[in-house]
Amino acid sequence: MGTSSSVDAFRVESQGLSTIDQRARFLEVGPLPPDARLIVTIDGPAGTGKSSTARQLARRLGLAFLDTGAMYRAAALLAIDAKVPLADHAEIVRLASEARIHFDWTRDPPAVIAAGVDVTSRIRSAEVTAVVSPISAIPALRDLLVKEQRRIGREHPRLVTEGRDQGSVVFPDADVKFYLDAAPDVRASRRADEIEGARGTPLSPAERELILRDIIDRDQRDSSRADGPLTRPADAIFVDTSTLALPQVVDRLEREARARITTFG
Ligand code: C5P
Repeated sequence: MGTSSSVDAFRVESQGLSTIDQRARFLEVGPLPPDARLIVTIDGPAGTGKSSTARQLARRLGLAFLDTGAMYRAAALLAIDAKVPLADHAEIVRLASEARIHFDWTRDPPAVIAAGVDVTSRIRSAEVTAVVSPISAIPALRDLLVKEQRRIGREHPRLVTEGRDQGSVVFPDADVKFYLDAAPDVRASRRADEIEGARGTPLSPAERELILRDIIDRDQRDSSRADGPLTRPADAIFVDTSTLALPQVVDRLEREARARITTFG
């Protein structure tokens, strides 16, 4: 059993810290030992808070953070910019391969680079979100990006990585796996709040309804594709975030991760 993880868990219990805030502060005991290889995967559908959770968990544990959805979004953006029809799989794969989609790790969070250009802000557009799911189902594109994700895993062997297939396909031997989920209406409402925050005006009930339908459709497509579908790995820790605020989710994952880390290095 890893010493620091079990000791932390024990101390938290024995000191009887009551509020989430106190626990969260107590658990911020600094990064894990610097020499350990440690891969933590977080999978789940859209709107579960995966990205924010992964980013904060990585910071607390002193690990790098990989947002694999950003890579599929970058491929979708390349296809949109080049006006490639969705059905032209070969051309989409060729574009993505040529563009060498990768991250600039000197930025926090890392910037997404495609064809030498920083596309970090453009990949979050509604236009990209509308086509990313069918594009991410292209098997040759998945092959390409999964290879790149594994290469990143070798280059950054202390990593929190999030997506749909990280624990099932890309890093099946990950040290700790999580699967986050939440009720569809909660996920849609989080997404709607984000959009409202960004555009500064309220969404209409019809717009909110559309977001819910889009989320359900995207999950359905992501779960039913043949290659790398959204699945809950049997050995993943399941967390339902429907009624949890972000700090509570991060706190829970940090505790679970520390309690399961049994070997360092
Ligand atoms: O996580 P995010 O919503 O940014 O992901 C965008 C899309 O990229 C997902 O809906 C899914 O279709 C695809 N994706 C994937 N495999 C991953 C990560 C994302 O297919 N590992």
